[in-house]
Amino acid sequence: LDRYNRVTEDVVRELKKICGPRGVLTGGSKSLHIYSHDQVAGKTYARAPEVVVKPSTNEEIVSIIKLANRHRIPVTPRGAGSGLSGGAVPIYGGICLSVERMNRILEIDRENLMAVVEPGVVTNKLDAALREYGLFFAGYPMSEEFCFIAGNVAENAGGGKAIKYGVTGKYITGLELVTPLGDLLQLGGKRFKDVTGYDLVSLMIGSEGTLGVFTKIFVRLLPRPLHRITLLALFEDMETAIALVPIIMTQGRLIPTSIEFMDQLCLHATCKQLKETIAYEPAGALLLFEVDGKDENQVRRDATTIQQLCEEHLAQKVYVAETEEESERFWRIRKQVPWVLKRINPAQSLEDIVVPIARIPSMMETLMQIGEKYDVLIPCFGHAGDGNLHATPLKNPEHSGEHWERILPEILGDIYRAAAEAGGTISGEHGIGHKRKGYMELVMSKTQIEMMRSIKRVLDPNNIMNPGKIFD
Ligand SMILES: Cc1cc2nc3c(=O)[nH]c(=O)nc-3n(C[C@H](O)[C@H](O)[C@H](O)COP(=O)(O)OP(=O)(O)OC[C@H]3O[C@@H](n4cnc5c(N)ncnc54)[C@H](O)[C@@H]3O)c2cc1C
Repeated sequence: LDRYNRVTEDVVRELKKICGPRGVLTGGSKSLHIYSHDQVAGKTYARAPEVVVKPSTNEEIVSIIKLANRHRIPVTPRGAGSGLSGGAVPIYGGICLSVERMNRILEIDRENLMAVVEPGVVTNKLDAALREYGLFFAGYPMSEEFCFIAGNVAENAGGGKAIKYGVTGKYITGLELVTPLGDLLQLGGKRFKDVTGYDLVSLMIGSEGTLGVFTKIFVRLLPRPLHRITLLALFEDMETAIALVPIIMTQGRLIPTSIEFMDQLCLHATCKQLKETIAYEPAGALLLFEVDGKDENQVRRDATTIQQLCEEHLAQKVYVAETEEESERFWRIRKQVPWVLKRINPAQSLEDIVVPIARIPSMMETLMQIGEKYDVLIPCFGHAGDGNLHATPLKNPEHSGEHWERILPEILGDIYRAAAEAGGTISGEHGIGHKRKGYMELVMSKTQIEMMRSIKRVLDPNNIMNPGKIFD
């Protein structure tokens, strides 16, 4: 901490000169509370900034970063604060730089299938604007109703459609950013191909706010699929359900848009909460499929293939949504899971491991053993199509808070080690932030980590840009 200086009244005065008095938030911890955490549960990972700035232009951001370097004050870029790794939490205090005011869609360029947006655009708003152009941004996560596009890029977010369309980074062809030393820079642009030197756009994607503040984002768009069908299949147990995933792709010869899964605890708790009428009670697992495309008949054929394969492979029941309302209803069951688990017990840890898809069943078995070892429940849901599992250890209500704080790092260590041993890794989409940085050596060599540190040192010699994230 003593590497950094405090935000003094003089600094606040300078910040107000830069952003105007309404662009600077100070005061007691109450007014800054909202900026002290993201969606990671518990107070362990929270820390309030000393001041929040809400710039509305690039020039303001450049001035803020130069000031921060001069005074050696840390700066943490912040989007909507929906992150699940503590990435936007200013762990050394200092300045929280919120991009919430920079929320304009600057251009939808239909001829080039590109959108150019400011960092604070809510992801769903971009999608809504693209609708009338017959286009869409395929890389978005399932928090799209509230997260910002800059947060998606900084985390390289994935989501429910990643199996067919890939993750956010695949659709980012250019970035304008303010570097940690305060230079305004554009990398890439409206071009689908670019091998001119090192791929610095890719370096920035997933950099978790540690290598610069994104001020403009170039998003590659796709023609919007005209039709979609959602299917919900119930199975006796996870093993039967997950065994079907590769069969759909190999025997069915199709890549669905989505293959999501929920285990028994997630399924029962969510359906109960939503007063669902699907026959979930005898079921031990759920798979949710979606297929989309331009040709209605092809989409129907794909849906029929999935339905038949589910039935041939012991699905207890398959529901096919024919209307948008029904599709939304099925997706609501999946999207509600994290909120329902939070209601069951806010003392929890929503995880994000990823394993090769064929290892999902053995990983689920290992999660059960880890749960038994520590006497806690570890419900699991996520993206079966790409092996991204949201295992979520919940505090046992019979354990004390201190006991939970003590065993949680051990539980996480066991889960991460098991993922690594299965050929996977500790985060598929939520990032490392400061929540998972202590576990990086489980999945990365010292040389790899040192390589990342060297890049950070060169670009941010004063270590003011979101310090303490990904690695110390
Ligand atoms: C219910 C729920 C569902 C979710 N589903 C998914 C999902 O399906 N897939 C998925 O990947 N994630 C998911 N998430 C996690 C989260 O929504 C994503 O990580 C999202 O991309 C974060 O965006 P944000 O704007 O909230 O970023 P924040 O949480 O504010 O910040 C995240 C990181 O981005 C950096 N950052 C923010 N703005 C900038 C900028 N302008 N320049 C540089 N760095 C910046 C921050 O410093 C921080 O490191 C979910 C979260 C919730 C609560």
